[in-house]
Amino acid sequence: MRRLVAIAFAAVLATACQRDQDRLPEYVLSGEIMGTSFSVKIVATQELDDQEALDREIRERLTTIDSTMSTYRPESELSVFNAEASTDWRPVSAALCQVVDGALEISHMTDGAFDITVGPLVNLWGFGPTKLVDEPPADAEISAALERSGYDKLAADCGRPALRKSRGDMYVDLSGYAKGYAVDALAELLDGHGFEDYLVEIGGEIRVRGLNAAAADWSIAIEKPEAGSRSVQTIVRLTDVALATSGDYRNFFEVDGRRYSHTIDPATGRPVEHNAASVTVIDPSTARADGLATALLVMGPEDGLAFAEQNELAAYYLVRTDDRFEDRMSTRFTGLLH
Ligand code: FAD
Repeated sequence: MRRLVAIAFAAVLATACQRDQDRLPEYVLSGEIMGTSFSVKIVATQELDDQEALDREIRERLTTIDSTMSTYRPESELSVFNAEASTDWRPVSAALCQVVDGALEISHMTDGAFDITVGPLVNLWGFGPTKLVDEPPADAEISAALERSGYDKLAADCGRPALRKSRGDMYVDLSGYAKGYAVDALAELLDGHGFEDYLVEIGGEIRVRGLNAAAADWSIAIEKPEAGSRSVQTIVRLTDVALATSGDYRNFFEVDGRRYSHTIDPATGRPVEHNAASVTVIDPSTARADGLATALLVMGPEDGLAFAEQNELAAYYLVRTDDRFEDRMSTRFTGLLH
């Protein structure tokens, strides 16, 4: 049984100006991108100069990133790179090189738990843009796809900028990192307009700056990792930071009561098998939080929390027990709660 919970929002430009006496005006722009939704909330003491122009600029920025880094668009820069069999240095855009370089840094840091070259495995298990599957692939197919993966076979030289794969049949999948990058790119765009109080969210990856319309820290809900429902596990109040969550409860299929989710352990070529239902990471960078959340989900709660302590990461696990979710957090994460 495959359960793929698609979250679709109509593309709207809504100006939600809440003008009750103790709230500042809040402008909300939202829509769909990268197979999910995005939302930008700006608290502005004065009317936005030209809201339509800002909306256009935000959509253009997101569309550019999508057409560079999507594996769902055959004509994207990444898809063209994936399709080429060359093992020479291949000139790419500065943005694509920056994202691959940043992702490789997390691979080195996490000893390959995060690995953007797992694309052949993601697709084999039916979690990519190609076919959906409802049965685990054969061991021989997994071994063949493992052969094509390995972050040590991919190099980035952003001085050129250029990328090089040491096997022509490698396939890079940026789904675990580029949404976070896109949130950071929108934050940079809003900073450029001089906004100091905003929230940017794409598919659950969030970055906040300053205060909300009630002049307080932003309240961010971490959802209960239950398939098919949306309820809150806990609320964190944050400012000037990013938050990303990875989990096994949105994109998975089950066979004989066993759940196969879209987070692949690059060491085995199979979906992670432990009882962590989700991991949330708080970090100054949304891209880093996005990649680290996936890496910590691959590591599992024991090794992942030890890694988070060693590296002073703010990590929050929700671990599935018989009848509920148990939360386990790193020291750094506890320190952020108030
Ligand atoms: P995260 O935990 O953030 O990432 C999990 C994803 O990372 C997996 O789905 C897999 O792709 C990859 N991954 C799995 N294991 C590892 C690992 N060990 N190391 C590194 N990566 C791993 N989806 C659509 O349905 N339609 C679209 O048109 C579409 N376009 C996209 C365009 C872009 C530019 C990007 C970045 C993604 C797009 N997606 C699209 C995918 C979708 O937006 C989400 O990225 C995807 O569902 C995973 O996001 P997440 O936050 O749920 O999971």
